[in-house]
Amino acid sequence: MRDIVIVGASIAGFSAAAELRARGHDGPIHLVGEEPVRTYERPPLSKGVLGGEDPSTTEWAAARDDDLDLDWLVGERAVGLDVGGRTVELAAGESLPYDGLVIATGASPRRLPGHRDRAGLHVLRSLDDCLGLRADLDAGPERVVVVGAGFIGGEVAATCRHRGHEVTVVEPLSQPLERVLGPTIGAAVADVHRAAGVDLRLGTGVDAVLGDDHVEGVRTTDGAVIEADLVVVGIGVVPNTAWLDGSGLPVEDGVRCDATTLVAPGITAAGDVASWDSPRYGRLRIEHWDNAVDMGRAAGRRLLASDGEAEAYDPVPWFWSDQHDVRVQVAGRPTLPDQGGQLAVVDGAIGEERFVALYGSDGRVTGALGWNWPAKTVRYRMALEQGLGWDEAVAAASP
Ligand code: FAD
Ligand code: NAP
Repeated sequence: MRDIVIVGASIAGFSAAAELRARGHDGPIHLVGEEPVRTYERPPLSKGVLGGEDPSTTEWAAARDDDLDLDWLVGERAVGLDVGGRTVELAAGESLPYDGLVIATGASPRRLPGHRDRAGLHVLRSLDDCLGLRADLDAGPERVVVVGAGFIGGEVAATCRHRGHEVTVVEPLSQPLERVLGPTIGAAVADVHRAAGVDLRLGTGVDAVLGDDHVEGVRTTDGAVIEADLVVVGIGVVPNTAWLDGSGLPVEDGVRCDATTLVAPGITAAGDVASWDSPRYGRLRIEHWDNAVDMGRAAGRRLLASDGEAEAYDPVPWFWSDQHDVRVQVAGRPTLPDQGGQLAVVDGAIGEERFVALYGSDGRVTGALGWNWPAKTVRYRMALEQGLGWDEAVAAASP
């Protein structure tokens, strides 16, 4: 294998490139990215950088390492893929031939139905989005409405509140992050927001943003109007697969890979755009940082491996979220009450400054959540990797 093209020059794509070099690939690696910059970190965009920190804190030092000898094609968008001819078509008209291809195009923010751009209306995905939103916040809007209490919603609400803005969050679920962490932990997250002065409107969605040239507010699905000077929409993302239309590759909630990240011969995928057959959990697509790094590496390795030596990509997933003074860390795939799951707080207690909770079903631990308790959460993560039994885990944790 000589020329490798990686489409998507963010966390997953760069991790694939670095792994290819680490494994001895010495042919050309072309890293194609639509954004006009090299790989950077997205997590600070809703936290420190939005709060006012220097944007250089998003820099990914390794991406500056010219010893990796990468051909950075930044500011270039892939618009098509010819699998038979082994070429990627770029928006500028060029065709890029490859022997191996990594698909790492991530995801883009979902828009509200009837979306139309106007001043004061924001989504948050890129450094550009962050700096645009931050500039508007610097102008001192009083009332900020955040649509969605998922990860973007919770983190942006916290940062805006700490910047001194009045913040209202509108979320159709009964609790923030309920679909991921369940109602009990969701309620604990809600308490943290309320204690910090965030106005949480739960159990109602937003169906329209109001205002002609500039946002004036939102209308909720139950007909209420909430006035706003600035609106941030964080209602989920859609995998970036449009450029694969007509390629014949399997696309269904992202591009589909087998257990080893392989999409088709000579083509692998990684990160937010990729759904794969996890031996541990079944079909998965994960939208978090650790997976983008680890799956990017796995996709790089897979390109160099023969079918016989290819290994399954089978991690215990892991992510964190910072909201106000709480760092939540989650390992595994928590099973929720509507899936027959159970929850036990095994260290500390909900409402205290820190605690650890385990999720389980069918006698096994399926997830561990740490609330301001990194050291313990890491231990449970390792135990999850070893297939921890529920009784054994709860007994071991009890004082
Ligand atoms: P992306 O980062 O989405 O990158 C894909 C890249 O491909 C983009 O640069 C895009 O422009 C480019 N691209 C798309 N289409 C094309 C095309 N056709 N041609 C060329 N290039 C293309 N996760 C956590 O675990 N913890 C956190 O605290 C956390 N905080 C976050 C905060 C914010 C504000 C955001 C947005 C995300 C956060 N995440 C966090 C999630 C994490 O950043 C993502 O899971 C990760 O960025 C996914 O990496 P990726 O490389 O798969 O995709
Ligand atoms: P998300 O976590 O999927 O949350 C979106 C939330 O918006 C959901 O609770 C959703 O409810 C709600 N929603 C949907 N339609 C709505 C409407 N019309 N009105 C009000 N609320 C609505 O997505 P996100 O917060 O937008 O984050 C975007 C991406 O960035 C995700 O991939 C996320 O993982 C990533 N990210 C991760 C982190 C982290 O890991 N710490 C931080 C920031 C961003 P339903 O579920 O009912 O649709």
